[in-house]
Formats: sequence, structure tokens, C-alpha cells
Amino acid sequence: MIDVDAIKTVAVLGAGTMGNGIAHVFARSGYKVILRDVEQRFLERALDTIGKNLDREIKKGKLVEPEKGAVLGRVQATTEMRAIAGADFVVEAVPEKMEIKRAVLAEADGVLRPEVIIASNTSSIPMTTLAALTKRPDRFVGMHFMNPVPVMALVEVIRALQTSDATFDTTMKLAEKLEKNPVAVNDAPGFVSNRVLMPLINEAAYCVMEGVATAEAVDAVMKLGMNHPMGPLELADFIGLDVCVDVMHVLQEGLGDPKYRACPLLKKYVAAGWLGRKSGRGFYTYDR
Ligand code: NAD
Repeated sequence: MIDVDAIKTVAVLGAGTMGNGIAHVFARSGYKVILRDVEQRFLERALDTIGKNLDREIKKGKLVEPEKGAVLGRVQATTEMRAIAGADFVVEAVPEKMEIKRAVLAEADGVLRPEVIIASNTSSIPMTTLAALTKRPDRFVGMHFMNPVPVMALVEVIRALQTSDATFDTTMKLAEKLEKNPVAVNDAPGFVSNRVLMPLINEAAYCVMEGVATAEAVDAVMKLGMNHPMGPLELADFIGLDVCVDVMHVLQEGLGDPKYRACPLLKKYVAAGWLGRKSGRGFYTYDR
């Protein structure tokens, strides 16, 4: 096994929604973080978000004020890929576009030491495909964090076909060091999280489309009857209806079963620009 205790510096590629959260949890657990994005303004926004999320943890009594500066001090923001050369572990969280992932992985592969593990946070691209793009397929693994990263306990640790046992075991241990709960999953469309969640959301949308119940009623059934903290349609609005449709397409294409077809009502809302919270309207309306 690659010694997990030898990992001191972690590079996070992409400082967006997921990248800033991933940088947050590593820095919070004592790791030096090199956070890389393509423009300075994205890095500034990420540091600002990390600061605000640390303040929230202080308010909740999970962190003491003097630690905030130390956590932020462990995050080095950079636009230079060369700056990650000294990293002992890498998490990739750039946009879900194959061309971007391909370019970033090639660049990172070129500057990192050969023994360093690269983990991808992709939600839908097969890990096996991404691993094959690198010169270190046995040292490639999935580390699927949930949004918001500082709050959610789960990390799906996804084994590509090429992932070595040593890489997998080290990544499981590393997730534990972040005080997360890693769950071992094999590479398959949607992994477990989206394979189970998205058809639930899709079916909830069918219930609304077919007039079985209103969105409020569907959510009430799932919250009050199944103890779900959020109804599936509230959750769909939070995730983004465009993302839900994209994931259904990944499941349908990858598994080849028509049962995964995206609900026409979801597609109609996306066509109308009703994407959920981020656009101010989805199954519900939001005051922006
Ligand atoms: P995002 O668009 O919020 O952030 C991506 C960031 O990557 C942006 O800041 C962008 O400027 C940056 N970027 C683009 N090209 C880059 C490059 N060459 N090098 C470094 N940075 C670059 O996206 P996100 O929502 O954080 O998603 C990132 C990944 O995480 C995706 O693969 C997505 O599927 C996955 N994911 C997202 C969620 C979610 O809820 N948002 C949950 C789990 C996994």
C-alpha cells in the first residue's frame, strides 16, 4: 500500500463548487493544499467561499476562531499547473466535459511524480475511461464527494478497472482522515449514488407529469412517509434539472435500458430554462 501518512500536500484541480469544498476539507484536516484554477478571479471566489464556510463552522461550534487563519493559510491558490509538481495526491474537480478532463489530466500527468495518485470527482464519466487517458492507470481512482463537501459525510471511492489495490486502499484511508465515510464502489454508470437517486427523482417527475399528485404532495409523501430530509423534487431543484436530465442520459446510454429515459416533463422544464434554484424556477419558484 502507498503510505497514506506520507501524503502531506494535496493538489485540487478546479476551484468551483466542488473544488473549493474539497480544498476546505483537506486544509481543515491539516493538509497543505495547492488549489489550481485557470483564472485568478475563480481562485479569489473560492477562497472567499472557504472563508465563509469556515465562519459557519465556527458559529456551529465545530471550529474555533483562531484555527480559521491556519486553515486558510494552508491553501495555496495558483493558476500554474507547474505549482502542483510537489503534490503527494491529486483530486481533479474541473468541469464535466471530456475535452477539459483530457487536457487537465495530460497536463497534470506530465508534472507529477510517477507514484502520485490522481483521483477524479467526476459524477458521470467512467473512471476506467479517464484512467486510460493517463500514464498511471493503476494509480487512478474515483473520489466522488457530495455537495456541499464540508457538510456531507459520504465519499464514494470508485475503482476503475485498472485501479491497483494499493491505490484503492490508500484512497479509502485518506477519505477517513478527512473524517468522511468512504464507501467502496466499482466503476459503473452513475456509480451507486446517481444510479439510485436519479431514477427516484425521475419517477417523482413522472408522478407530477401524469397528474398523480402535485410536486408539493410528492415531496410530502417522501418526507413524511419515508423520512427523507428533502423531497425528491426539492432536491432536483437544488441539484439542477439540467444535471438530472444529463445523468439520466448517462444511465440510459451506459446501461442501455429504456427504463432510464428522462421524464419528458424534466426535459420540458430544462428547455424552458427552468433549471431549479440556480435559475429561480424549477418545480418550485425561488426568490433570487
Ligand atoms: P464548477 O463549474 O463549479 O467548477 C469547475 C472549476 O474548474 C471552475 O472554477 C473552472 O474555472 C475550473 N477549470 C476549468 N478548466 C480548468 C483547468 N484546466 N484547470 C483547473 N481548473 C479548471 O463544477 P463543479 O460543480 O465543481 O464540478 C466539478 C466536478 O465535480 C465535475 O466533474 C462534476 O461532475 C463533479 N461533481 C459535481 C457535483 C455538484 O453537485 N456540483 C457533485 C459531485 C461531483
